Amino acid sequence: MHTAQDILERIFGYRAFRSDQADIIAALLEGRDVLALMPTGGGKSLCYQIPSLVREGTGIVVSPLIALMQDQVEALRQLGIRAAFLNSTLEPEAQRGVEEALVSGALDLLYVAPERLLTERMLETLERVKIALFAIDEAHCVSQWGHDFRPEYRRLSTLAERFHAVPRIALTATADARTRKEIITELRLANAAEFVASFDRPNIRYAITDAGEGMSGRERLWRFIDERHPRDAGIVYCLSRKMTEDVAAWLSARGREALPYHAGLSRETRQHNQARFLREDGLVIVATIAFGMGIDKPDVRFVAHLSLPKSIEAYYQETGRAGRDGEPADAWMAYRIQDAVRLRQFIRDSEASDEQKRIEAAKLDALIGLCELTTCRRHALLAYFGEDGPERCGNCDNCLAPPETAERTEDARKALSAVYRTGQRFGAGYVVNVLRGKADTRIARNGHDRLATFGIGADRSQSEWRHLLRQLIARGHLMVDDERHGALRLTEKCRPLLRGEAAFHIRLPGKEKARAGRRHGAGAMAVQLGEGERALFDALKALRMRLAGEQGVPAYVICHDRSLYDLVTQRPQTREALHDIAGFGEAKIARYGEAFLEVLNRFAPQGEAEAP
Ligand code: ADP
Ligand code: ZN
Repeated sequence: MHTAQDILERIFGYRAFRSDQADIIAALLEGRDVLALMPTGGGKSLCYQIPSLVREGTGIVVSPLIALMQDQVEALRQLGIRAAFLNSTLEPEAQRGVEEALVSGALDLLYVAPERLLTERMLETLERVKIALFAIDEAHCVSQWGHDFRPEYRRLSTLAERFHAVPRIALTATADARTRKEIITELRLANAAEFVASFDRPNIRYAITDAGEGMSGRERLWRFIDERHPRDAGIVYCLSRKMTEDVAAWLSARGREALPYHAGLSRETRQHNQARFLREDGLVIVATIAFGMGIDKPDVRFVAHLSLPKSIEAYYQETGRAGRDGEPADAWMAYRIQDAVRLRQFIRDSEASDEQKRIEAAKLDALIGLCELTTCRRHALLAYFGEDGPERCGNCDNCLAPPETAERTEDARKALSAVYRTGQRFGAGYVVNVLRGKADTRIARNGHDRLATFGIGADRSQSEWRHLLRQLIARGHLMVDDERHGALRLTEKCRPLLRGEAAFHIRLPGKEKARAGRRHGAGAMAVQLGEGERALFDALKALRMRLAGEQGVPAYVICHDRSLYDLVTQRPQTREALHDIAGFGEAKIARYGEAFLEVLNRFAPQGEAEAP
């Protein structure tokens, strides 16, 4: 029998399992159901692909992202795995072929759209064949609270009844407790083994700069791309359609090919631009948030924001599209406080209920707090999602080049105390008025003008207090209660501050140390290569592009950047040595080994000099 580890090495070309992968696979091999929560790029697919190969029968993968199925299946076939998909894009003829392969036991993995799986005909077919497991991908689609609700996902509960002996695994990158509970109930996973991985994306470097003064956001973007990603694929997010077109044209005019993407473009243009982004190496796409859902390109090396996202959730989701392959990637943002004013206006003028508006405003505040933060960005992000990471990550701008700060411990305590004394029932505006001693009618009615904290902060301006509150929120000392109209509440984390055991520093606006720390630490891998290595890397990339073009598949389906990088640094000379390259399993070596070795040989050092 092939053990999971053996398959990992021999077929996938990887050495060790990541985070919970081994435990999840073991649970499925024991026949248990599993609920797995992992961030994007965490390695969810192997969790069901490997047990599908180990267990007898076909692994059935349910996914709503039918646009991705073809590439996913193609990537598996490249590994020598017998995979196929069934969805509405397939011609009837091809469909019949897949069904026949399924019935005759000739498939290791079958990807199916939920509506297709749930047809009576399909279910009856499945009852006649041996099934290794069911994998329900994007399982948060069963949740009505999420933004991706798919009614047909609820009907997947039928799998629990009709196939009770077959283990099921539900996978998602959406973590919140409410969604998780709904998945368990709706998919009948009460007895499932639950695995919740950290949501940290250690390979992503976070950097946020204030473009309010000096160089424009665009110029900063140019400098960032030019210095760190001269040849990499990346996404630039903008707020408006017009801005995406302007920025794309501007980048192209400066010699960096960039395409726009927004909901106002024709369907053909959007599809064309998206397909080019997926299939070509090193293209930049300048987009509104309409771009991204279902984009599964693993080698996006940077996500840049030229406008503020709406919330920390949106920021994390959008930046999460960088570096899915686990290699170094950048999440970079240049914001202007005017953007915030504009977003606030959008919120105020929207059709939403007052409560919804307050929640959105509070979320925007938390995001601005993150922008103005002086401490580790990753720590703040993880804290926002309820995870307690290390105080310093060493891979964000603030860790790499600490900004100029001022101590505001006393003020922070005053603010926390004002929140507490007013009963943790009010939003930032109210608290600031109490601090500054501005008795509006609400404050007077509540008697808060008689509190000891009333007016203790009269020496600071309204914007200084708002700045401070945003930072307290961003660092998790205060939380914004969504269910209570955006009221501020104290958290456990603020205790040391209140007890006088911790200090509180803020970033001084406009005095950021420009360029410090640039090019230090682990940058994107292409930047780290020396000149000779760079030429080899480019030649390998060109070979990959040619192979991909011949088969009409995206370059990453042939192999990931990590494999190319390993080839450059390890310079294997034999087929045997290729086994040490990440992602090179037996099938890939058989198919492409010679071609890659041939390029490597051309670049082999001859004495001191290097060939071409
Ligand atoms: P997710 O579905 O969670 O977003 P994927 O399953 O697509 O993530 O995996 C992300 C990347 O990590 C892929 O390129 C995959 O090949 C790679 N990967 C997954 N597991 C491992 C591992 N154990 N060792 C090396 N690379 C891995
Ligand atoms: Zn950090």
